[in-house]
Amino acid sequence: MEKIAAAERAKFQNEELQALPEWERVQASLAAETDLAILLVDGHQPPQLAVSNNNSICQAFQSSTTHAHLCDPYCGVAFQRAQEAGEATHYRCHAGLHCFAMPVGIESPRPLAVIGGRAFLSSADYRELAERFRNGDLRELLSTELFQNVIFALRHQLDELAAQLAVVSDAAGVRSGTGEAAGKGRALTAANEAGGVATSAGRPQGVSDFYFPPGIKLQAACETALEKFRERFKLKSVAIMMRTEEGFAPACAMGKFKNKLPSFAAKGKAGAPLKLAAGAEAGEAGAGQLFVFQGEDTELFPLTVGDELKGALLVGDGKLSEEKRRGINEFCLELALPLEVLRLREELERSLRASYHLQTFTQQINEVEPSEAYAAILRHSTELLRSERGSLLLFDEASNELEVKAAVGPRADVTQEQRVRLSESVSGAVLLDGRPRVVRDLKATELHRAPAERKYKTDSFISYPIITGGRKVGVINMTDKAGGEPYDELDLHLLESMAPQMALALDRAGWHQKATQFQLLSITDPLTGLLNRRYLEERLAEEFERSKRHRFPMSFLMIDIDNFKEYNDHHGHQAGDLALEITAQCLKSALRSADVASRYGGEEFSILLPQTSATEALVIAERIRSRVEKSSYPHGESQPHGAITVSIGISAFGPKLETPTSIIGAADHALYVAKSRGKNCVVSYVPPVNNTASTPARDVN
Ligand code: GH3
Ligand code: MG
Ligand code: MG
Repeated sequence: MEKIAAAERAKFQNEELQALPEWERVQASLAAETDLAILLVDGHQPPQLAVSNNNSICQAFQSSTTHAHLCDPYCGVAFQRAQEAGEATHYRCHAGLHCFAMPVGIESPRPLAVIGGRAFLSSADYRELAERFRNGDLRELLSTELFQNVIFALRHQLDELAAQLAVVSDAAGVRSGTGEAAGKGRALTAANEAGGVATSAGRPQGVSDFYFPPGIKLQAACETALEKFRERFKLKSVAIMMRTEEGFAPACAMGKFKNKLPSFAAKGKAGAPLKLAAGAEAGEAGAGQLFVFQGEDTELFPLTVGDELKGALLVGDGKLSEEKRRGINEFCLELALPLEVLRLREELERSLRASYHLQTFTQQINEVEPSEAYAAILRHSTELLRSERGSLLLFDEASNELEVKAAVGPRADVTQEQRVRLSESVSGAVLLDGRPRVVRDLKATELHRAPAERKYKTDSFISYPIITGGRKVGVINMTDKAGGEPYDELDLHLLESMAPQMALALDRAGWHQKATQFQLLSITDPLTGLLNRRYLEERLAEEFERSKRHRFPMSFLMIDIDNFKEYNDHHGHQAGDLALEITAQCLKSALRSADVASRYGGEEFSILLPQTSATEALVIAERIRSRVEKSSYPHGESQPHGAITVSIGISAFGPKLETPTSIIGAADHALYVAKSRGKNCVVSYVPPVNNTASTPARDVN
């Protein structure tokens, strides 16, 4: 039996199970009504006999060859659980989803069971799982389909579904003895109706009102809900505020709230339960309370999921009757969960987009010429935040001004090269206090100082200061989000996630500018055109600090020409100089633009490889070694290896190498080992396991 392919097996079972099509209809309608997943199983799952509204996360697990086994101890044994318990039994699976399994009484040659729920009961569980998909053990399963149908629910909704299923299955069981498939069908339909009536009495009316179509944006969902709300309760001024990490942010406002919203404050941590204290004085509100500072004719209704306050609905139509208040509270009870689901989905979508973006950003910024870096950074940021306009300003310490280095969007050409004084602009204020600004509605702030000719499409913008190690680097501004939506804290987090990389690229671009300015004697080696040792040491110190701060990897190569004294002695100093130039060319051609190649001294070269692991450095070193060996040098064949060759020592930033000097020392040591092993090879420094004086090295070539 186990050997039969899943499809075959399902077919075979379907033929035996005449009531299945009708059950499927009932199951699907219950799943649609409750927004929970329901599956009919007859043993170990998968395969399943009927699946309705499955959670997309479960689908991803089940279709994975590497991770499906994680579900085995949970839904995999749901059938046994159900048979043993004889009634609904609840469990929480490895992914943090809540489910129940229960036997069902459909006529069948074998006993059957249903799995119901597959829902998150808390956003913390969802976040934890999302983090595993993004950065943890489940990375492999990450895809955009993963979050198509994530189910959230409250515990009582699972209980209600179990009760409904019990009614439906009992009725089906009682009538199944009649034998006629059509009869069973009618029994199930009747049972479904009975189940629906039995439970809907205990639930708020009109649950289906808040079935938002898949893919709808939070903003649009809020608008739809508010319109419905205004209509039903005959109100003018209404708004929805959603809870964010920093406080509350308006999701949608109508009537008088369109121009001005009362300000809110919440005491207590984000995510922690908050009680509502509408209209209370600031002084009265204790920890864990939410209150309004202004707006006497405003009433606040909490949007709660479980005991967590997720937002608030504001009504600004004066005092409301008790009856209206009750109705509004019921409305809020219905609305809170679907809105929170949309908010979480959007949050995750954006953070997924951010991690994809960060990967490509890092990759591309390392390849781009430093002179292109400003434009590249801005382009990436505008793409990430879907901004139609943006600018990147760098701080010039000498003049205490911000200089526009790149701009995109209309009038970008005019904006280029503009300079702004710190005291006279939003960007300046942002850089001065180091606090980013997310402005949803410019009209409602004191910041509205933009000159008249700067007509923006939207009144929302983000201004983000780039500061590294306490040093003010610049400001990035984003305006005119595609689609006209306002920016919010999530957009800010996206920028935040890129900030260390941006600072790195900006610094590099800055160094490049300096290099162009002072190219003459100060930092380049006149013979090879490579950077000199002084520059290398300065850069190393800086990159080292950065690696330490952000835990970026970093590697360092020390390269020495083999038997070069001999070459010089035989072929003369001029030939030696030419060989040094050819070697420098080999290095340059093997490196990326972010790498720093220098002539360390004599016939020794060093290469700093920022954001490069020891393993990647090994590949680069080997490439250099082989390129030198294969290059044509005058009299190269007379050398001991039949060609000019180099030996290379590698070291990488890590817990045992905690200073720039120790990194150079370690690479030097590895180089020494390479020489002692016959030259023309690459050796990586391996830090000693304990604190003994020995410093073993690993031969890799
Ligand atoms: P090993 O394989 O152990 O590195 O042997 P080596 O002969 O390369 O080592 P050593 O350090 O003893 O010799 C370095 C030689 O490199 C000394 C000098 O003749 C040559 N050299 C150093 N700087 C220059 C330079 O600027 N131009 C020229 N033409 N030769 C240089
Ligand atoms: Mg030497
Ligand atoms: Mg040498």
